[in-house]
Amino acid sequence: MSPSDSVALADALSDVLSALAGWLLVGLGGLGVAVPLLAVLDGTPSNPAVPAVVVLLSLCLVAFGVFVNPRFRRRLDRRRSIREFGRSRVVEHRVLRAAEGRTERCVGCDTRLTEGELRRYREEFCLAGLPVYTHAEGENAYCLDCATADSREAGSVTADERADLLTES
Ligand SMILES: [Zn+2]
Repeated sequence: MSPSDSVALADALSDVLSALAGWLLVGLGGLGVAVPLLAVLDGTPSNPAVPAVVVLLSLCLVAFGVFVNPRFRRRLDRRRSIREFGRSRVVEHRVLRAAEGRTERCVGCDTRLTEGELRRYREEFCLAGLPVYTHAEGENAYCLDCATADSREAGSVTADERADLLTES
């Protein structure tokens, strides 16, 4: 096993463990909310402040559990404006350099390229700016000519690009 393999394995393992810890905290917190609520519904407890404190602490546990979970954290990192609801699309641009040793095919003119522009895009359903569901995700490569020609029409995805995205993913 090469050093980079063991690093990747450790990363994957820590992701799984964080996710597990996150779900445990959410479960524990959920229980902490449900039990006092049931107790209150069952009959008035001697001191109503106690269940209130337990519920509050449990809600903190749930929030912490969500935050610890890598999947949720990545979503939190991708959050948009709080006013954003419904389907929306983001495109991230980055330069592909020859030093990366990748060979891609330009989606504009179908030539092979080792440098150009990579556009990764994601179509997500957002609630208050938080992505809750990913409809489609994909990466397209553009040669320098197509990238410059295309950037003039301000990042709008054409029907062909959409078709490419849907067949790739
Ligand atoms: Zn091209």
